[in-house]
Amino acid sequence: TVAVVLFTSDLRLHDHPPLRAALGAADEVVPLFVRDPAVHAAGFDVPNRAAFLADCLADLDASLRRRGGRLVVRSGPVAREVRAVAAACGATEVHMAAGVTAHAHRREERLREELGAGGVVLRVHDSVITAVAPGAVTPSGGDHFSVFTPYFRRWSQQSLRDPLPAPRAVRVPGSARGEELPSREGVRGVSPEVPPGGESAGRDRFAAWARADLPRYEERHDDLAGDATSRLSPYLHFGALSPVELVRRVRERGGPGAEAFVRQLCWRDFHHQVLAARPDASVQDYRTRGDRWRGADEAAEDIAAWREGRTGYPMVDAGMRQLRREGWMHNRARLLTASFLTKTLYVDWRIGARHFLDLLVDGDIVNNQMNWQWVAGTGTDTRPHRVLNPVLQGRRHDPDGTYVRRWVPELADIEGGAVHEPWRLSEDRRAALRYPAPLIGLGDGLARFRAARGRD
Ligand code: FAD
Repeated sequence: TVAVVLFTSDLRLHDHPPLRAALGAADEVVPLFVRDPAVHAAGFDVPNRAAFLADCLADLDASLRRRGGRLVVRSGPVAREVRAVAAACGATEVHMAAGVTAHAHRREERLREELGAGGVVLRVHDSVITAVAPGAVTPSGGDHFSVFTPYFRRWSQQSLRDPLPAPRAVRVPGSARGEELPSREGVRGVSPEVPPGGESAGRDRFAAWARADLPRYEERHDDLAGDATSRLSPYLHFGALSPVELVRRVRERGGPGAEAFVRQLCWRDFHHQVLAARPDASVQDYRTRGDRWRGADEAAEDIAAWREGRTGYPMVDAGMRQLRREGWMHNRARLLTASFLTKTLYVDWRIGARHFLDLLVDGDIVNNQMNWQWVAGTGTDTRPHRVLNPVLQGRRHDPDGTYVRRWVPELADIEGGAVHEPWRLSEDRRAALRYPAPLIGLGDGLARFRAARGRD
């Protein structure tokens, strides 16, 4: 007997329930990845993620080969390709992870139709992409939690399975035909500092980070210059690491760092259960606040300055330049740059979210859109009218200005925290800087936002 495992956002061999189930049910297994043109059409296979994905596929293939197997990659509409592979190999079952987005739901529907017509059974597994499945915990009288803290309490009480080991051997039928794997070198326009992708790189990074930085994660996760967060988000996005395994391993270590880190992983599950219940929230306001956002035409120059990191606010510009160079940005900088776009410049959150999705290696419909909505005050923030001040945020989270000087070389000669307010320098020094004056006064931005929200 033969079973197909369709890999999607779960590009790993460790702790992989669909693979485990397929290996238990069949003698031979086809590990399959389909490059679906629908992902391209939707604008999601941007260079930074395409490069990281190529690494993930190469690593998965290498790990399978060490176990006697290989990865089969095909291009085309996913349901059609899966059906063709199943037919060619005489497979009777297809296993895959449950997804939460509208795209994932459509994919599952099409697969059910196509495979059903050929008499092939589709088996969908939970807790592969998230630690706790969306819908597994619900508030009384509702289908999802819209506030994080009560969700976190219930989520923490769930018992998670023991992480599954990677299989020892995988036998792939010779009749399973695929194409050449995409290569990272073949991708143009990649940001210069995108890290290596893949399960092996992700496991190495986790091990090194857990040893060095996890114990102090609680105190240091907001320290921009210290850069002590895990940077595991791209590995989690592609499923090169299992969230169940991470939660279990980190809890075993214990301590305040572990607790704080598990809480961040819970934010990921929290957003997944919101979007699973409200798939329209990837494009529509989750909560309407009556905003009449400025759009792409009205705010064209402000948007360009924000994207390019030349707003004249050093913290904002540092974050935006880090994004462009690394395809990643520190969470504190994401909060601040998003607050600046939506609340100080009063630009539609969707415009910012799209720019992030164009560059982030971890760029993710669930986490990106729901975090943007959180910041814009249209999402699940319980203080939707808060506005982050880039100067105060800089003084608090980059007191010495190291993060700003790292990313904004025009300001490299300004010592200490003074770098957060270059407009306070003497006129001579300021004129020599080649750094723009602030795009807008913070007070003016705040007044416009408050008036727009009816909170004068
Ligand atoms: P760590 O601090 O080490 O946290 C560990 C893991 O917890 C992360 O890898 C991530 O998987 C999860 N996590 C942490 N914070 C959050 C959060 N607020 N929401 C959801 N998961 C979280 N994260 C993405 O993975 N993809 C995105 O597209 C994305 N877009 C964002 C957009 C905005 C405007 C904001 C404010 C945040 C966004 N985040 C996104 C969340 C967060 O900024 C990143 O997950 C985090 O910075 C990744 O760095 P890290 O792995 O070092 O995090």
